[in-house]
Amino acid sequence: TTNVSKESVKPVDKLVGGLLAAGFNEDSCLSRNQSSLYRKPSPYKPSEYLVSKLRSYEMLHKRCGPGTYAYKRAQERLLHGDEDLARKSNAELCQYIVCVPLRGLGNRMLGLTSLFLYALLTERVMLVDQRKDMSDLFCDPFPGSSWLLPLNFPLTDQIDSFNLEHSRCYGTMLKNHAINSTTIPSHLYLHLLHDHGDYTKMFFCEKDQTVIRKVPWLVVKSNLYFVPSLWLIPSFQTELIKLFPQKETVFHHLSRYLFHPTNQVWGMVTSSYNAYLARADERLGIQVRVYSRPAGYFQHVMDQIVACTQREKLLPEAAAQEEESQVTNNNTSKIPKVKVVLVTSLHPEYSDNLRNMYMKRPTWTGDIVQVYQPSGDRFQKVDEKIHEQKALAEIYLLSLTDKLVTSAWSTFGYVAQGLGGLKPWILYKPENRTAPDPPCVRDYSMEPCFLKPALYGCEAKAEINAPFLRHCHDRTWGVKLV
Ligand code: GDP
Repeated sequence: TTNVSKESVKPVDKLVGGLLAAGFNEDSCLSRNQSSLYRKPSPYKPSEYLVSKLRSYEMLHKRCGPGTYAYKRAQERLLHGDEDLARKSNAELCQYIVCVPLRGLGNRMLGLTSLFLYALLTERVMLVDQRKDMSDLFCDPFPGSSWLLPLNFPLTDQIDSFNLEHSRCYGTMLKNHAINSTTIPSHLYLHLLHDHGDYTKMFFCEKDQTVIRKVPWLVVKSNLYFVPSLWLIPSFQTELIKLFPQKETVFHHLSRYLFHPTNQVWGMVTSSYNAYLARADERLGIQVRVYSRPAGYFQHVMDQIVACTQREKLLPEAAAQEEESQVTNNNTSKIPKVKVVLVTSLHPEYSDNLRNMYMKRPTWTGDIVQVYQPSGDRFQKVDEKIHEQKALAEIYLLSLTDKLVTSAWSTFGYVAQGLGGLKPWILYKPENRTAPDPPCVRDYSMEPCFLKPALYGCEAKAEINAPFLRHCHDRTWGVKLV
């Protein structure tokens, strides 16, 4: 087959430097093994410590995951809160974190990754709310077990009602003095969403962590990349430094470990790749996210895209009509390069215009620019299966490009850059409907930005003293790891 012949030409690192476990059924999740045929090998190697931590996590998940005796026990502990009974039994007392990633694919992937890191640090088993489209999007990442929260989980009916005011919400419990190191509830709700309240930041305090650590079940809603704040908790920091000696690789490694598109999504990725990207000499991804309301096509955004790609020499300049003859004379001896631009956006007009620009006029370098956009659904339909599958395929395709332009503030772009190991050029957020000058800036790191302030650890101003955090280019009050 094609795969075999490709493999015999260059050795393929299917397990991504030991990041992935061996022993999966290949057919049930083709992306896991085939990704390495489409990706350039990452220049960043996972630490041995991370690899061994992942292998022990996988064993923990297998021992405690759905369908095990330990899971059944833990469920009873949750239902009846009978600690004595639980302790008397010989079964391992496993602890869990139930993840409810919310709203928007990029947001969900950032929340999941942050929670998985928290699970690794605290030796909890991570289970994911599957009522939305999780199993249509991603394969199970852990061998021999499932990461999906069983539908008959006793608190399923309550999940949607958990919010900042809920009596089981950590902040509310603190306010009501309902939790301390001797009064430990069987479950706790954590609200790590963009609209976190004042008390939420206590989650990032060492002393609060020692209390939370004792709670058997945590249910967490999150759409934030809160990893930078975990580095501000001293006991976590020691471990994090060992796991990630290169700090800016946290999301890169964890996202490649966790996110394997299902066969259906993988089909979308490979068919687009083979049809449009495979034969290119260079691949440029441009992710266009428009936040104005109503969103849509805006000339100033188009101008900004053209200005950025030309100024940063990501795309060649197209000649003006009167210059065309000079261009053709210039480039007769050279074999032209084919540059493919992959545009992702809810709006098809940006790629249409870029395509027209290069179709009508030759480029000064003689290179050929082809523009391709897989979908343009116009409206955001979060939680709709096919729409989100297309979105995942596009995030993945963007991550396979050589260079990437992203939109400010967009978690969609953050995931693509992290998966791809790419430092993007960020299109600044336009103000007052004009193209910003400069139009874009090269990022200093491939890590996602933690967009929400006030969760920077226990001390409100702690981030200022942290040498490993830096403010984001696209949001000055956000931070990321460097
Ligand atoms: P963010 O809002 O930019 O931070 O990104 P999210 O991924 O969290 O949410 C945006 C949602 O809009 C996604 O879940 C998609 O449904 C949709 N979306 C946004 N941009 C694109 C795009 O370029 N392609 C596709 N297919 N969907 C998109």
